Amino acid sequence: MNFLQQEESASWSSPAVATSSERIYANRGVKASRWTRQEAVEEGEPPGLEEGAQSRPAAESARLEVTFPKATPLAQTTPLAEMETPPTGWDLLLPECAASAVGSSTGDLELAIEFPDSEAWDCKLESLGDERPQPCPSPQAPLLSLGWDDELQKPGAQVYMHFMQEHTCYDAMATSSKLVIFDTTLEIKKAFFAMVANGVRAAPLWDSKKQSFVGMLTITDFILVLHRYYRSPLVQIYEIEEHKIETWREIYLQGCFKPLVSISPNDSLFEAVYALIKNRIHRLPILDPVSGTVLYILTHKRLLKFLHIFGALLPRPSFLCRTIQDLGIGTFRDLAVVLETAPILTALDIFVDRRVSALPVVNESGQVVGLYSRFDVIHLAAQQTYNHLDMSVGEALRQRTLCLEGVLSCQPHESLGEVIDRIAREQVHRLVLVDETQHLLGVVSLSDILQALVLSPAGIDALSA
Ligand code: ADP
Ligand code: ADP
Ligand code: AMP
Repeated sequence: MNFLQQEESASWSSPAVATSSERIYANRGVKASRWTRQEAVEEGEPPGLEEGAQSRPAAESARLEVTFPKATPLAQTTPLAEMETPPTGWDLLLPECAASAVGSSTGDLELAIEFPDSEAWDCKLESLGDERPQPCPSPQAPLLSLGWDDELQKPGAQVYMHFMQEHTCYDAMATSSKLVIFDTTLEIKKAFFAMVANGVRAAPLWDSKKQSFVGMLTITDFILVLHRYYRSPLVQIYEIEEHKIETWREIYLQGCFKPLVSISPNDSLFEAVYALIKNRIHRLPILDPVSGTVLYILTHKRLLKFLHIFGALLPRPSFLCRTIQDLGIGTFRDLAVVLETAPILTALDIFVDRRVSALPVVNESGQVVGLYSRFDVIHLAAQQTYNHLDMSVGEALRQRTLCLEGVLSCQPHESLGEVIDRIAREQVHRLVLVDETQHLLGVVSLSDILQALVLSPAGIDALSA
């Protein structure tokens, strides 16, 4: 099983996490139906009609009440200071055990952790030069449409907003899931290798001095580390070898405290969407308000999947039949792209400068030939090729372990409903909008879709705020 499949897999192995959820909610008398919902999200299918009929009234009975959501920084919500040690049942990688944890998992992934030969680091290559492509020309103006504003005035436009307001984060949690937690004194190289070996895309960071979770480690952090410290293919990035997570955080954050953004299982899915989009993050840990333990990590994909499955049981809003071009959902101007011939280093520069989650990969004539996402960068750790950032993006895509053929795209004449079905089915974070000749027109990301379906009807624009 490879990295991506592990992340998307329905069966996970941390009963302690499920147990803690069960314990908290056991006395609420709603566990069975909630668990059925959670399982349906795991299976990717809506529940039977009976369950649907149970789920539907919650949405239908929703009042036209707009609740302005709030993000919930950990410090305000959980009594973590009282915790002595993280609860059992997690894969907590302490510095001394991380190496063996990684090593023991390598069989699954055929990931051999070997350090490059230091003799090869003696000479420096010339600077790679700036091959950053020019921003893509702005696509056609007609794509920018006020159609969505019109749709929001129609009856039924708020159906998904209500649905997400009426359901809690607990409803969208997996019945069991694997959580890997890193102690902040772990070396960063081991942490990134451990992410690969354990098939996770992100890990909460545990500070044992503060006895609390202080942040997340994600693939974006791997990109930030490479971007900051990479010099040339023949120079070892000694900071990766030597720095601890806490050292990196001190250097990177430079004393400006950024609290962990988290959410409670009792908070609504509406608040979860808001927290993810407003904070421009892709991982939202659900913390048990009593024990302060991490129960699950919510993502846009999980939320869209939940909405997609249970939305099928709700009255179908008319906007789903309108085209992407009419509705103008997505980003169509100032698109960040990368040339297939550009080095990976250039792609990393763009990720850091533009803070986008993926880059359409274009050829010399501007046609989209692939997609390089932040996720793909972790393969540099998996294959220990993070010293070869001179490799072209096209070559990196050819080498990536999981071969998603070509690019998953949509066209302006396709309906929003079709686009949502495809993005949910393919389990990707975005579709690239192209014309018939594969020229780039835009990006339709889960953030755009969730903003439009859930937040815009409440009059909230978290995406451009
Ligand atoms: P990725 O898309 O690579 O998973 P994110 O967009 O979630 O990464 O992360 C962007 C930055 O925000 C990273 O530096 C990451 O450590 C940080 N981050 C991610 N999630 C959270 C969170 N819940 N609370 C605080 N910081 C976070
Ligand atoms: P994440 O779950 O971290 O958000 P992504 O959806 O960004 O992950 O990427 C997961 C994998 O799917 C990556 O290999 C990425 O290149 C690929 N991928 C994502 N979106 C597309 C797309 N529109 N076309 C082709 N491949 C894609
Ligand atoms: P995401 O980080 O993918 O959840 O998206 C956040 C916002 O950035 C959304 O409005 C996307 O449409 C936009 N976006 C994503 N990728 C790109 C890109 N390559 N260029 C410009 N905007 C993008």
